[in-house]
Amino acid sequence: MNYAENILQTIGNTPLVKLNTITRDIDALVLAKVETFNPGNSVKDRMAVKMVEDAEADGRLKPGGTIIEGTSGNTGMGLALAAIVKGYKLICVISDKQSQEKIDILRAVGAEVVVCPTNVEPDDPRSYYSVSKRLSTEIPNSWYVNQYDNLSNTLAHYEQTGPEIWEQTEGKVDHFVVGVGTGGTISGVGKFLKEKNPNVKIWGIDTYGSVFKKYHETGEFDENEIYPYITEGIGEDILPENVDFKIIDGFTKVTDKDAAIYTRKLAREEGVFCGNSAGAAVKGLLQLKEHFKPGEVVVVLFHDSGTRYVGKMFNDDWMRDRGFLEQDIKTASDLVAH
Ligand code: PMP
Repeated sequence: MNYAENILQTIGNTPLVKLNTITRDIDALVLAKVETFNPGNSVKDRMAVKMVEDAEADGRLKPGGTIIEGTSGNTGMGLALAAIVKGYKLICVISDKQSQEKIDILRAVGAEVVVCPTNVEPDDPRSYYSVSKRLSTEIPNSWYVNQYDNLSNTLAHYEQTGPEIWEQTEGKVDHFVVGVGTGGTISGVGKFLKEKNPNVKIWGIDTYGSVFKKYHETGEFDENEIYPYITEGIGEDILPENVDFKIIDGFTKVTDKDAAIYTRKLAREEGVFCGNSAGAAVKGLLQLKEHFKPGEVVVVLFHDSGTRYVGKMFNDDWMRDRGFLEQDIKTASDLVAH
């Protein structure tokens, strides 16, 4: 018989899929690492389990303990799977910008969800950073994961995602393109690939309203770069420990509108139903196209599933309200033949 001992054993070994239509203006071979195939439907399953196992190993997390994390949903899902299989409680502290679907999904897998306001400073006591930290001091036998500064996050991608990409491309990967939030994915994969071949180029996708691109280019943490934005999962108003700026060759910023439009295009033109940061990654990849030569291999990573955005980027009313619909979709009555 061929079966997994539990759901955690099905994490990883996700497929690499050629993009055919949406990247038609690029001469290089573009391959997408589609992380939707993980059991929690996102790349975050990998780092969630790694963070839990490292904390168990060095005693930060003890039997029957409570895991606490400030998460936009995907890390929470991964932590929830780990908590169920390993017998822990989980509290997810989430900002109110996140989609209702993400909150509902976390509750479906047994997490307690605390919702905090988005547009407050990180050190404001109401922010989800502050609330997570406070809960972890108040609740006995609890452990605050802190995916931003917890380096097991990067290590998961150094040990798993990077080697998978190297093996799947038979060492032929020339460029890696990925959205940056905590920085775990880009730093772990980037470090592994550059150790294998220092000529591999690592490109980060950032949002308008985030500090990464400017910091990478100038070394300056510019508060003027920080303002609210709509794109989910990438960009930050802090510099997480997990972002290893040295291994990143360049950043490009993608607008909220482009990220939303390309999330939809990816589903409709490729049948790859992924989340908002995947749309940003595709648009960013097109913005970077002068760096890709004919015959080269470009790998782009798609973090999560489109199902979490059906009420947002995949909803015409939501898109229209923000001026994001390129052309208005016809209503049913327009489509009736007269
Ligand atoms: N996209 C989505 C949907 C995410 O949830 C995250 C994690 N915040 C990212 C991209 C960025 O990945 P990382 O945290 O590894 O930089």
